Amino acid sequence: MKEQTDRHVWRTEVLLEGSLRGASSVLVSDGRTRIVVDTGLPHEESWLVAALARKGLKASDISIVVNTHFHVDHVLNNRLFSHSLIYAPQESYDWAKSLYADLRVENDWEKLVLKYYPEVMDYEKAPSYMGALRKFALRWWDEARLGSPSRFRWMETQPLPDGLESVITSGHVPGHASLLISDGQERMVVAGDALLSREHDDQVLTMIPVNKEKYQRDRERILALGGRIVPGHDAEFHQQATVSNSSEPA
Ligand SMILES: [Zn+2]
Repeated sequence: MKEQTDRHVWRTEVLLEGSLRGASSVLVSDGRTRIVVDTGLPHEESWLVAALARKGLKASDISIVVNTHFHVDHVLNNRLFSHSLIYAPQESYDWAKSLYADLRVENDWEKLVLKYYPEVMDYEKAPSYMGALRKFALRWWDEARLGSPSRFRWMETQPLPDGLESVITSGHVPGHASLLISDGQERMVVAGDALLSREHDDQVLTMIPVNKEKYQRDRERILALGGRIVPGHDAEFHQQATVSNSSEPA
């Protein structure tokens, strides 16, 4: 396995703790390369800057940003890191760009949501989910905040630095990626929204999964991997692994 062959020891620390309203932002560092995973909403920019400052870092010290997916609450401070490459799943980028553009279509937006969230009508609160999604599209989606497109490195084709692996967890949105990081002893999983919360998924103010069944499988897969787990919208917790390292998902 990869973990045994590379000598990288990554330290992982939560910068912004995920909550029902805000996404986790995580710092991963080996002492030379510093990586920020997910960057939050515009009003969280100053919090992110302050969290970095508490570690003695500036945005310009970050050489890589990783986005688990392109929902607005995970990507809108990318532009703060103007020296960084941005590793992200292209499938999620294309999907989100098209979703947020369609939601701006005045007449047809409710019908257009179904193209992206075919299961939404299974939920009692469908109108409120759809309304919130449209509000987010109109209020927040801003491609200029994603960082310069020339800095994107698509995770489907560009390998992450040694010692970091991505796992596709596409139940939440197509292409969604979770990160597996080894610190030499323990596994760290930065789940993104593949695992919203340790116990209160239903209270997180984000959209329903694109595929509920797949989301449940992603969530169980992450819990089975075990180690330190950072959910998309909750505090970090520790979970006993129930699968061996050699049966990692592809
Ligand atoms: Zn999300």
